Amino acid sequence: MTGAARPTLLQRWRRAWRRWSLWTALVLLVVSMLATMVWLAGRYEASQVQSRLERDTADAVSDIRVALTRNLQSLQALHAGDPGTLAWDIEAHELLRNHRELVRVEWREPSMRLRSYAQSPYRPVAWDARLRESHQSDSAIACANARRLSSPAYSSSYFQPHGDGLGSEMMELCLPLTAGGRPTGFLVATYSLQDVLTNLVAHNLTRSQEASFTEPDGTRLAVLGAARRGSRMFTAQHLLDLPGTTLVLRMDTWHTAPSVFPNVLTALVTAMSIALVTVMVVLVRDNRRRLRAERDLAEALAFRKAMEDSLVTGLRARDLQGRITYVNPAFCAMVGFNAQELLGQSVSAPYWPPELVDEYRQRQEIRLAGHTPPREGFESVFMRKDGTRFPVLIIEAPLINAQGQHTGWMSAFLDISEQRRVEELSRASQERLQATARLATVGEMASLLSHELNQPLAAISSYATGSINLLDTAAPPPGAAAGTDATPLQDVRMAMQQIARQAERAGKVIKSVHDFVRRRDQARETVHAQQLLDAILPLVILQARKLGVRVHTAVEPDLPPLLCDRTMVEQVLLNLARNAMQAMDDPALRTRVLDIRVRRAASSPHGDWVEFTVTDEGSGIPPDVAEKLFTPFFTTRQEGMGLGLSMCRTVIEQHGGYLGFAPHEPRGTVFTFTLPLATAKPLPDA
Ligand code: ADP
Repeated sequence: MTGAARPTLLQRWRRAWRRWSLWTALVLLVVSMLATMVWLAGRYEASQVQSRLERDTADAVSDIRVALTRNLQSLQALHAGDPGTLAWDIEAHELLRNHRELVRVEWREPSMRLRSYAQSPYRPVAWDARLRESHQSDSAIACANARRLSSPAYSSSYFQPHGDGLGSEMMELCLPLTAGGRPTGFLVATYSLQDVLTNLVAHNLTRSQEASFTEPDGTRLAVLGAARRGSRMFTAQHLLDLPGTTLVLRMDTWHTAPSVFPNVLTALVTAMSIALVTVMVVLVRDNRRRLRAERDLAEALAFRKAMEDSLVTGLRARDLQGRITYVNPAFCAMVGFNAQELLGQSVSAPYWPPELVDEYRQRQEIRLAGHTPPREGFESVFMRKDGTRFPVLIIEAPLINAQGQHTGWMSAFLDISEQRRVEELSRASQERLQATARLATVGEMASLLSHELNQPLAAISSYATGSINLLDTAAPPPGAAAGTDATPLQDVRMAMQQIARQAERAGKVIKSVHDFVRRRDQARETVHAQQLLDAILPLVILQARKLGVRVHTAVEPDLPPLLCDRTMVEQVLLNLARNAMQAMDDPALRTRVLDIRVRRAASSPHGDWVEFTVTDEGSGIPPDVAEKLFTPFFTTRQEGMGLGLSMCRTVIEQHGGYLGFAPHEPRGTVFTFTLPLATAKPLPDA
């Protein structure tokens, strides 16, 4: 991966920050949504409680009002009787027994003097008669109001102590009594506010409610209800308007502190929100895991692709029917076809050389029949798109998929042309090394032989000369004495002379071989062209005789001496002569002539150069051979080294000369080289 694709530290930090801020925002949103929900639900619940309480209070007030009105009617019925009589007493007591909120009923004269009364059997109160009859008493005020209004009137509430040190809040109701339009007195009924609550309101109260009569400033006059429970209080107040007074009925209710989940709805929404957030977290985590897996997969794929693309081994997959299903770029480059041209091919692949198609098809059939190929691979020849053939090493194996099923064949290809070329080169150089070693040995032996043969040849020569001298003294030569017996001696003499001449010649040949092998000096010297020819001719003639070649030499007369490395130039001449003779080693040839000429070079403007030509009438040089003629180790002969011509050109060029060849008419080749005359000005690079 490149540096540009990898995020920098700053980018990663930014990404992480954005991710965390998004998460924080989401959590805050959910929490605030939940809080709002809870708050709204709490408020809704509180308003429900409040309105229920208001309703209850209104109901209680209306109950009290209805009960008081009913009581008023009962009291008016009581007024019909005659006070002080037994019937009135019974009725009054009956009334008090049925209405526990009434504590006392009094019959008073218009002057407020008590005529008769009845007390509640449930609540004995020690009344102070003097106080009750005073004009400032609450009952007196109520009656004054009643008289003025000509209708029943209530007093404001007052505290009435009981005998036991306790007391309770009371309220008087005064009914003006009339007979024939004339006031006949008052009926005063005393209500205990506590009992009003107990008897008229209690049945409306729930367990968490408290009812009370209060004064406008909030002072409680009578209280009824449960003890406080919970911390939150709801309050509702309603006015109870009565003629002459107004009471305030207050109802309180307590609730436990609103729980986090005040109702099922909120709990449900909360649970759903939590579930939603959890699902989101799980999804995000899952998504992240999937993204990571995808990234890993993409990286693995990219790595595999890079690996496939950089492979030098060609890869090819085939299915069980032999169709090509995959080729890698190396394979395409190897055969020169692109993947589209190869995929799907089966019967004969385009890279099969036409002459081998049948063989390959058979091989493929054997493979498809289920025969496992050799593990070490096998060699084959493929054809490139341009038609050139090249050797390949194929290693093939069954293609087994992830389920363990055999789905085809996978093959790896190695182009082994280079390997073959190197092997070939190494084999050739090995052979040449062997030949060199052989030549070196031959050279050594030739040197030894020449040394060993020199003495016997000298002995043969001296013995032959001695024998001739003896013959001369025994029988003078033909001019000196004539006779019939002289003829055999004459023949013997002739033979002896021949022996001496041949021995001398053999000595010369051996000497030239010795000189040739032994001469090592590299120095340039002045030498005549004829001397060079004379040095190699014995060796050339040796081979010429063997091959049936006639040797012609011609040196331009009066040619000045040359300046050259004598040994090397002799080697060049010998090489060219040998090559020429070998080119004529053909039984079909009737005449075999080797022609060596030396003359001044025509191309040289001042005549400072000498031109040697070695001409044969052999097979000539075909163009493909001509191309590589001077390449070291190039040869067409089995026993050849291929070094001759390359070395010759090097030697001649070192002298500043030129070595080339041309076809000779009607057949054969002419090799030409030039050398400087000793009188020539030396060349800068020579
Ligand atoms: P060698 O003689 O060891 O083969 P050379 O370098 O002398 O190596 O010659 C290289 C090749 O050139 C020979 O194998 C031969 O095919 C070709 N050649 C050289 N001289 C002649 C010639 N006169 N006529 C035809 N072919 C020649």
